[in-house]
Amino acid sequence: LVEVLKSRVKADMKLAALPQVHTLPIDQMLHARLASFNPESDDAEAENAFYVADLGEVYRQHLRWKALLPRIEPFFAMKCNPDPMVMRLLASLGAGFDCASKNEIQSVLEMGVDPSRIIYANPCKQNSFVKYAQTNDVRMMTFDNAEELHKIKRFHPDAQLVLRILTDDSKSLCKLGLKFGAPLDTTGHLLATAQNLGLSVIGISFHVGSGCFDANAFGEAVIRARRVFDQAKEYGYEFNFLDVGGGFPSAHVTEGITFEKVATILGSTVDALFGPEVRVIAEPGRYYVGSAYTLATQVIARRTIAREASDVESENPSHMYYINDGMYGSFNCIMFDHQICQPKVLLKDNGFTYKQAVNEPHGYASVWGPTCDSIDCISPKSSLPLMETGDWLYFENMGAYTITAASQFNGFRKSEILYTTTEPEVSFHF
Ligand code: PLP
Repeated sequence: LVEVLKSRVKADMKLAALPQVHTLPIDQMLHARLASFNPESDDAEAENAFYVADLGEVYRQHLRWKALLPRIEPFFAMKCNPDPMVMRLLASLGAGFDCASKNEIQSVLEMGVDPSRIIYANPCKQNSFVKYAQTNDVRMMTFDNAEELHKIKRFHPDAQLVLRILTDDSKSLCKLGLKFGAPLDTTGHLLATAQNLGLSVIGISFHVGSGCFDANAFGEAVIRARRVFDQAKEYGYEFNFLDVGGGFPSAHVTEGITFEKVATILGSTVDALFGPEVRVIAEPGRYYVGSAYTLATQVIARRTIAREASDVESENPSHMYYINDGMYGSFNCIMFDHQICQPKVLLKDNGFTYKQAVNEPHGYASVWGPTCDSIDCISPKSSLPLMETGDWLYFENMGAYTITAASQFNGFRKSEILYTTTEPEVSFHF
């Protein structure tokens, strides 16, 4: 994999230089980076929070996709994590891209990806962005309302349109149906409008909601899509394109829903309802990157909460730990993506030894980000050992909807990323 990255990625990469890609497992990457850290020093580089990104995990996810959903072409939803290393890897593996804005489209085109491998999957677009897509020959784009059709007629009359329908997203963490998706009782009117405008509608898309926890939602959405495929014939359209959206679970999610369960239901429903003449794509985001990133943060301060002697057994937090990434940075996923982030501990005695927080609980503590805002709370109550300034907490499965929406509020910079690539062996959890 390192060779793939070196030869195919560096050749046309706009990065000044390819960042170093290691081959160590994540725990050893953490050890190696922290070996040079001295809690007595004020070396900002060594002190800062950092990610370890395992590109091997992204690669494994791609192999699993190809093995279990061979018919469905993945178009990576780059909003989830537009890390150039991930983007380059997926581009070199032949994936397409789901873009939501001009800048996203531009960054994919600048990698040398053909415009036919992009779907502009934002049903409500700015005029100039539609024009940009037209100028750059990005033709596939979604819509879910009549006003958008008039806009597209004006700025991109040759677009290949995909009608995004509303599906049941009640079994998902992020309910995208609140904002997008045409209810089935409106699709007739939309298809008639498109037909009157002489626009080319090629098929249907949907999104079952991000962080979906019910595999059946995918099958039910495909059935709805089939109904609109049939309806489209009344308006003179012979659809040949189905986009099954995102919502696929990340590899660390093994309870309730798994990718294997989704693939079994989705793959068989698609095959049962759509002949081989229909091209099927998907827009997976968190599936690719969720489990690939681990974030390590330093305990930069600690407050001990005064309590009565009789209160020692209390379950109320006895300490407040402050770490150097927070809700305004990587942990925005707590607010925007409804995530619960569980800290694990790296204590600094005996070099750095790993101890899961739950194994050696000292009591309860709360964990806070570095800004001056009290909303910047990562965990109101975690069972943790007693830690000091200079110890580290790390958080696994931090690859999706984290760094991409991180701000620099209060002057805190985004956490840097170190890269590794572990062996691309794939396992399945049926
Ligand atoms: N496609 C669209 C249109 C989206 O809005 C999103 C997420 O918001 C995705 C795909 C990716 O979803 P997920 O990360 O759940 O796969």
